[in-house]
Amino acid sequence: MMKKSGIAAALLGMAMLAGSSVASAQVKQVYWTTSGKFGPFPITGLIPTIPQDKQRDVTVPVSMWVVDHPKGLVVIDTGNNVAISDGMDNCKKYWAAANCDFLKPSQTRNDVIDRQLQKLGHSTDKVKAVISSHAHLDHAGNIEMFPNAIHVFQKKELYQGWWPEKFQGRAANGTFVLADLDNARDFNYLELQGDYDLYGDGSIQILSTPGHTLGHQSVKLKMDSGRSIIISQDAIWMQENLDGHPAGLNYSVQDYTNSLNRLKFMRDLEGAEILMAHDENQYAKHGGKWHK
Ligand SMILES: [Zn+2]
Repeated sequence: MMKKSGIAAALLGMAMLAGSSVASAQVKQVYWTTSGKFGPFPITGLIPTIPQDKQRDVTVPVSMWVVDHPKGLVVIDTGNNVAISDGMDNCKKYWAAANCDFLKPSQTRNDVIDRQLQKLGHSTDKVKAVISSHAHLDHAGNIEMFPNAIHVFQKKELYQGWWPEKFQGRAANGTFVLADLDNARDFNYLELQGDYDLYGDGSIQILSTPGHTLGHQSVKLKMDSGRSIIISQDAIWMQENLDGHPAGLNYSVQDYTNSLNRLKFMRDLEGAEILMAHDENQYAKHGGKWHK
């Protein structure tokens, strides 16, 4: 009798221990911030199929995320390169003038990811992993600020960042900026070919969502609180894309549509919340703060 209850107690203890270790390995909180804004410009510049009655000018965030996890701090996307901060003149020295003129970036030096981390009480050298959704100028702009982190990319996206398809433009200062990547070649890359569970506990799931670019990826977070948050980045720019108007910049429209639907079904079946990279209204409501 004694022995049996002793075993039962031990088992119960183990179960409780397992339970508590699972709970503590989820994401504690995630901070949503922006590397300045783009705009204002007509929404049709991004989404050409918007019907006339829904057309408007937009000023959109350039979303970056800081994920607080017991196994190590994670940054998702690093925004525009620091060199384009504080005015058009700086922008045009680093980006193609046409991109500066269209996007009208408002990034100041204090908006850049290193300063954003400082504001939150962290520093670039404390970041364990940097997940880049893709290699475009407004998403992987500052990976070179993280020489000691593990950099998580889809392998195909690295190929594309270095050698885009001709139809996407191959200028060294195009939408893929060679100078954002050139000193990062010897960094430590986790080169993915599909989905990946970053910390092996289901809390930070990298989802392959190609279409916008060849190797775009999104991230699903399981929060301590029980919430599921999908950080779509450019798999879904903004609400109008969810409403069925496809983005005007795609490597493959078919892949883009499949990826968008994948995230939509996760929302509908799992009850996950989708937070989008360039949605002005959603950022106004939920940006600039920690989410638990
Ligand atoms: Zn973007």
